[in-house]
Amino acid sequence: MLSRSLLLALAWSSIAVAFTSSACASGAAAPIDGSRLAAVDKDEPGSWLAHGRTWSDQRFSPLDQISTANVSGLGLAWSYELDVRRGQESTPLMADGVLYFSTSWSKVVALDARDGHLLWEFDPKVPGRAGFRACCDVVNRGVALWGDKVYVGTVDGRLIALNRETGQLVWSVTTTDPSKPYTITGAPRVANGKVFIGNGGAEYGVRGYVSAYDAQTGRRVWRFYTVPGNPKGGENSRAMRLATPTWHGRWWQFGGGGTVWDSMSVDPELNLLYVGVGNGVPWRQAIRSPGGGDNLFLSSIVALNADTGRYIWHYQTTPGDNWDFDATQNMVLAELRIQGKRRKVLMQANKNGFFYVLDRKSGEFLSAKNFVDVRWATGIDANTHRPIEVPAARYSDKPFVNLPSAFAAHNWHPMAYSPQTGWVYIPVMEIPFKYAADKDFQYRPGAWNLGVDMMAGALPDDMDARRKLRPQLKGRLIAWDPVAQREMWRVDHGGPANGGVLATAGGLVFQGTGQSRFAAYGARDGKKLWEFATQTGVIAPPITYSIDGEQYVAVLAGWGGGYAVISPFVGPGSGDMLTPRRMLVFRLGGTARLPPDTTVERPRPQLAEENWPAESVARGKRLFYKNCAVCHGDAAVGGRVIPDLRYSALLSSPQAWQAVVIGGALTSHGMVSFRRWLNEKDAQDVRAYVAGESKRLFRDMDREAVSR
Ligand code: CA
Repeated sequence: MLSRSLLLALAWSSIAVAFTSSACASGAAAPIDGSRLAAVDKDEPGSWLAHGRTWSDQRFSPLDQISTANVSGLGLAWSYELDVRRGQESTPLMADGVLYFSTSWSKVVALDARDGHLLWEFDPKVPGRAGFRACCDVVNRGVALWGDKVYVGTVDGRLIALNRETGQLVWSVTTTDPSKPYTITGAPRVANGKVFIGNGGAEYGVRGYVSAYDAQTGRRVWRFYTVPGNPKGGENSRAMRLATPTWHGRWWQFGGGGTVWDSMSVDPELNLLYVGVGNGVPWRQAIRSPGGGDNLFLSSIVALNADTGRYIWHYQTTPGDNWDFDATQNMVLAELRIQGKRRKVLMQANKNGFFYVLDRKSGEFLSAKNFVDVRWATGIDANTHRPIEVPAARYSDKPFVNLPSAFAAHNWHPMAYSPQTGWVYIPVMEIPFKYAADKDFQYRPGAWNLGVDMMAGALPDDMDARRKLRPQLKGRLIAWDPVAQREMWRVDHGGPANGGVLATAGGLVFQGTGQSRFAAYGARDGKKLWEFATQTGVIAPPITYSIDGEQYVAVLAGWGGGYAVISPFVGPGSGDMLTPRRMLVFRLGGTARLPPDTTVERPRPQLAEENWPAESVARGKRLFYKNCAVCHGDAAVGGRVIPDLRYSALLSSPQAWQAVVIGGALTSHGMVSFRRWLNEKDAQDVRAYVAGESKRLFRDMDREAVSR
């Protein structure tokens, strides 16, 4: 006979079971907190709760149902069509059966992770004019989860908390000065009840910082500035006492730069928040800080007390940055055995071409080695731990063609680390860039302010010469041993701007490409084991999750980001192609299909014959590179993300062109009025230049068609 207490216990456990299952069915999920995140590997290996899956930011999943042995049987489970045509860079999160992710214009979507049906969506209604301030497309790299909320940063500088179940707005705070060209494209991070958010804008002219907000209320808890303000302002923290002597001139007038626009990592045991700090503004140091100096904390990894924002340590990867070498690439936290000792390390494959291993408790430099060809430095000095610079690389007297470049050796596309192999998997790019001082530079508040002549490295006019450049622009996936600091294998892709990386316990590495493919490789040998045609370039990082014993792999597909905006060497062909943007989810034996590929060339404009004086075209070209190229592409080629100007019907109407460029008729799409920077004659000269480029493109396409 059962005792009364045992009966009671049984009754309670069945109530608990009933409660748990009904809670799951109704979507009322357990809150996400520090203990749930800390136990994710043990308790719920099928979840993906934080940006890099766990606090370690390794982007490694212990799931192994999909493995080297069976990945050839991977198929599409479902796909979800997005209502945007801009770049997709978000890392989805998966908690309690729901897939949460952000899309272009800082929108948020929640889907049922099993079948992709829409649970809710949220549109922060970012005003179109804010898009003008985003140098590298109106992308967003993801949301954060904490408690019963979802957090997202918006292009116009807001941090927003949503109800996880309904997508309803809970609170919204403005984190930036709306009068300055700040943007947010990075994902918030959360720990210990605080949401951390940075911002971007260092190509335009802002002062970088990272802030912490109370996750429950949205109240600001602390803010850390990455560069000093005007010394007369009386800031007297330890960080600013360190940084101020490393600057000269009147840098605060430009803001200084140093934005924390993407990567942050948290070590909850050490209570440290690591932030990756971006480049200075202007890029050219001779303008920003005449007389040089290290310009702390530009291009640095900085460790802060996560509770107070107090400075703990820093390591500057590029002292006195002159090349846009942001230190904003993702940071992986791991334990490595280095010279016989287990060390808690932080690893970063930096934009400057060197792979860094630091002790993440003390900030001690452990090792660094170039993972691509590097021209600007010959190595890292073993004693000072500073780069050994090649003097000519500073392009003070004459231009310097550098590798890596502002586009990267490695950019925001996250790398992954597999504790199984002990290797890091890095999406690598090789894009040379000709740095030349802008001799006529004048600071223009709110505008593109590099101090570098963008026209110096312009595409050649001759289309065949243009085509010959393509093989010089490389992209590959490499496996890197961070202890030995050497490459273990490489896979060459057809070009740069490929996706972020996922590593799994199934012995696999997943990555999408700019060539519209999504593939799985063997983690030990780099052998391609599976591939899927995505109909559009994939730059986002994939994730994996499991529900009811079924493992899924998810990735957002859709061209965009800085390189796709500016370069013609993205994807096949040339010209304006509007391709879809989708969430793609795969499982073993998946049989779903994408709709037929309907990508077509946009109709060509009928251009009136106008006789432009050569002087007008040449002048228009100079103005184009100074004002327009950042969004509309080198030689007006940008057609994968933003409508290709060479197809614009506006080209044949001086009045319509004027209404847009000066009148701001397309402000709601992000094309603001350039009245502050261009007059009417300037605008018409730009039209002359673009019309010439339009004719050049269609002549070439017709010639190519005949020769085929
Ligand atoms: Ca930058």
